[in-house]
Amino acid sequence: MKDEKKIEHHQGYRGTEIRGRDGVEAIAAVDPSGNERVFTVAGVFIYLHGTSPITDFLAGSLELTPQGCLKVNHEEMSTSVEGVYAAGDVTCKRIRQAVIAVAEGCVASISAGRFVSKKARKAK
Ligand SMILES: Cc1cc2nc3c(=O)[nH]c(=O)nc-3n(C[C@H](O)[C@H](O)[C@H](O)COP(=O)(O)OP(=O)(O)OC[C@H]3O[C@@H](n4cnc5c(N)ncnc54)[C@H](O)[C@@H]3O)c2cc1C
Repeated sequence: MKDEKKIEHHQGYRGTEIRGRDGVEAIAAVDPSGNERVFTVAGVFIYLHGTSPITDFLAGSLELTPQGCLKVNHEEMSTSVEGVYAAGDVTCKRIRQAVIAVAEGCVASISAGRFVSKKARKAK
């Protein structure tokens, strides 16, 4: 990417403000010394969390892998808690793509449905 002449690469900057009237026009950022610079841009992609899964909201209720991903049985996308299923990037794998997250979501939802049906049958 650094060799691509159409891309400007600014490393070490911290974005501080997205500016614009009816849409994005510029982004303000400070360099490592704290000097502000304003870049004229037509759009901004916000990439908050890198590739780390966001699991803090679970407050330790589900088992995680050492990398902080949700531990799942991929056969049915079940987690460490019975009746709780997970899908997508939060379960971590080498290749993270939308189609994989969607497929896992399908497996998780069918598994959840089966879990609820089984419970309902037992309750009768
Ligand atoms: C820069 C980039 C480019 C990519 N390009 C491609 C591509 O071209 N093709 C492709 O197939 N894949 C691409 N991917 C990967 C793809 O985006 C992911 O694999 C996919 O979005 C995973 O879906 P997900 O539902 O697991 O997670 P996400 O799409 O990340 O969805 C998780 C959602 O949960 C929300 N959330 C988080 N915490 C909470 C909370 N506490 N309460 C409520 N909601 C919460 C988030 O706001 C988010 O909306 C790209 C990823 C990145 C980062």
